[in-house]
Amino acid sequence: TREMNASVEEKLVLLDGLRNAVQATLDGVAGSPHGAHGNFRLLYQPKIDLKDGAIFGVEALIRWQHPEHGMVPPQRFIGLAEESGLIVEIGDWVVREACRQAQAWVDAGLPPVTVSVNVSARQFEEARLVERVARALDDSGLRPELLELEVTESLIMRDLQKSVAKMRELKDMGVSLSIDDFGTGYSSLSSLKTFPISRLKIDKSFVSELADNPDDQAIAMAVISLGHKLNLRVIAEGVETEQQRAFLRENECDEMQGYLFSRPVPADEIEAMFDRQMAGMSARQQHGGALAL
Ligand code: C2E
Ligand code: MG
Ligand code: MG
Ligand code: MG
Repeated sequence: TREMNASVEEKLVLLDGLRNAVQATLDGVAGSPHGAHGNFRLLYQPKIDLKDGAIFGVEALIRWQHPEHGMVPPQRFIGLAEESGLIVEIGDWVVREACRQAQAWVDAGLPPVTVSVNVSARQFEEARLVERVARALDDSGLRPELLELEVTESLIMRDLQKSVAKMRELKDMGVSLSIDDFGTGYSSLSSLKTFPISRLKIDKSFVSELADNPDDQAIAMAVISLGHKLNLRVIAEGVETEQQRAFLRENECDEMQGYLFSRPVPADEIEAMFDRQMAGMSARQQHGGALAL
């Protein structure tokens, strides 16, 4: 049908653009002929400790900066990148760029910031993933402890044994792993205990109605208690309101991330947040006050 042709056509155009944007990003030449398709950049969203309100890490989130379409969100292109295999190159760039930025923050004298990178299925399964991560750490000089990879249950379950073996290799290198969108996938509790992970991330679908939906409250509380019994840190994503934050804090969730504190922002804004945080801390120390929150 005509609609099918149109959508195939649209996909081909998008794929072509994506391929060129990968090239432009790798060449680092946004102004070159490739630059007509734009390039990729990373935004960073702070992760907050619920006990003291301090930023302890950031999640790197990719954007495709397109000259005509503006900032293209990942939902529009990650699927296609995955299907076409381009995700391997894109993902490798994300890991390298995130490591470079995290080390730049170390060099600038910021307190240690863990940078989390989302890894998709095909990228995770690629034979050289561990080698690529090791290279990124080596080239940037970043301590492996400051890198975290976010994977999903569905990704792990595609080939449980292989996934766990690969996660173990990464963990042995000093890199930490967390389960993203926890509660939306299909991993069994018996397999969960074999994952060499350090953190569970409660999916934002359970957080959005947390203030008044008893089912979501029950799920959040169950994930927090399960995580703690397995010795894992628990973070909630998509926290937008004060009520959600209060509920999570009362129920001993460790960390949060969401628009309430900050949207994903460019790297220099993260630095500004740290400056404000450190200024606030020394002001509170001088006045002998406790931390706000
Ligand atoms: P995710 O890893 O679960 O990331 C969380 C998403 O929720 C992000 O959307 C973030 O901007 C958004 N978010 C954060 N706080 C809030 C909030 O308070 N309310 C709401 N409504 N949303 C919030 P984003 O950046 O559009 O990314 C969407 C998904 O795309 C990510 O979900 C992740 O699965 C994927 N993605 C992003 N960057 C990368 C990447 O570099 N590589 C890969 N493979 N996937 C990526
Ligand atoms: Mg994530
Ligand atoms: Mg998530
Ligand atoms: Mg999510």
